[in-house]
Amino acid sequence: MSDDHAVSAIGCYQGFLSDVTHTPNIDRLAEESLLFENVFATNSICSPSRATILTGKYSHKNGVYILNEPFAEQQTSASILQNAGYETAVFGKWHLKSLPSGFDDFKVLREQGRYRNPEFVEKMKDTLTEYKGWSEDIITDMTIDFLTTRDQNKPFLVMTQFKSAHDPWASRVPFDTLFSHIKIPEPANICDDYSHRSDAASRVTLQLSMMDQKTFNHDRLDTSDICAQRKYIYQQYIKAYLRCAAVMDYNVGRLMDYLEKTGLDENTVVIYTSDQGHFLGEHGYFSKRLMYDESIRMPLIIRHPEMRGTSRRNNQLVANIDFAPTVVDLANEKVPDDMQGESLKPFLMGASDLDWRSGIYYRYWQHILHRDVAAHYGIRTSDHKLIFYHGLSLGHTDKSSTPPEWELFDLRQDPAEMINVYGDPAYQDVVNSLKADLHNLRVQYDDNDTEMIEEILAQGTED
Ligand code: CA
Repeated sequence: MSDDHAVSAIGCYQGFLSDVTHTPNIDRLAEESLLFENVFATNSICSPSRATILTGKYSHKNGVYILNEPFAEQQTSASILQNAGYETAVFGKWHLKSLPSGFDDFKVLREQGRYRNPEFVEKMKDTLTEYKGWSEDIITDMTIDFLTTRDQNKPFLVMTQFKSAHDPWASRVPFDTLFSHIKIPEPANICDDYSHRSDAASRVTLQLSMMDQKTFNHDRLDTSDICAQRKYIYQQYIKAYLRCAAVMDYNVGRLMDYLEKTGLDENTVVIYTSDQGHFLGEHGYFSKRLMYDESIRMPLIIRHPEMRGTSRRNNQLVANIDFAPTVVDLANEKVPDDMQGESLKPFLMGASDLDWRSGIYYRYWQHILHRDVAAHYGIRTSDHKLIFYHGLSLGHTDKSSTPPEWELFDLRQDPAEMINVYGDPAYQDVVNSLKADLHNLRVQYDDNDTEMIEEILAQGTED
């Protein structure tokens, strides 16, 4: 698992950067894997998505609604496999408030950690241990060391969780000079002025022109032309981002080589994913959080030994709640009833006509606290996306309310999500239908504060 690695930055996803991005090893993995095209985070921010990936539950069930909320010791895919006799370990980025549980071994970065000479929290050690070198190399070394020294009589689950490609987008030799002499393609909507969308879209401080030096040390133009400024910063940002990810991709290759060298590839499932997506200049944005596709869409590539030698793609609507049930199911353990996702194992076994979901429920809770993103929830189907910015902190942040707003996108006509058609009479039936579906998903997932939200909004939105 990587961090903030958008599908557009991965060659095999064939996005607008596929001709330049440097991901030969992930692409190699995809050549003998099932690649999922439509996978979405249900709360697009690091810690909450990680909690969902581990538990198979929405934020309101696992307790991690926003960054920096405790992840109580609870049932996870790892704890289930550990109880089933698997040797379990996690190395690298953890980014949850409490120490890992359900793992026989762990070495994890404290909070964000560092790219160079990172410090790790290790199981059974009270003090941090600094390792010399580059984080992605070290995390891979730790994984290979575990694979080499583990109990050879037990099956295993190891989670290798890279820091890349999270800001501040650093890299090392020789990847730090990639793309030096080329201009990287820009997304078509990099100069989006948000004129056909909600205030929530223009309020956010995710614009490239607003990037701060702490997030990423960059040069700026002396200009009031926001479009020119975005494009100027974009070239620096995207090169740094793709270089950062290239170091990680190199280490994906090291792991795959190790599995092949030892024969472990013949009976090991390999999963590549990231904790969410990331804006790579689309809408003029960087970062994530919003429900727009570039933010919520996750890579998911699964290689199962029984399907080696074939490359397939799946277009079903998958969510990060499905990851834990899949891992449990792949280990032939019973998926607990309280996990809210579905196992993807049938797809890996060749199924194509499953009775599958037709909409994904999304909810972002961290109202305004970072980058002025208003709290919102919504539904994404294959054809439409309906977003409700209720704009309430609901006790999770101390920020004032923002006015409630809706957005509707017709993804068939407008895949870049540029024009909000919520108020268009031609879409009234679609709105009514999606609102009913959204309500049903909230009931299904037991996210039951609708009445409270409606009551607060009816009273006025002032705190
Ligand atoms: Ca992340």
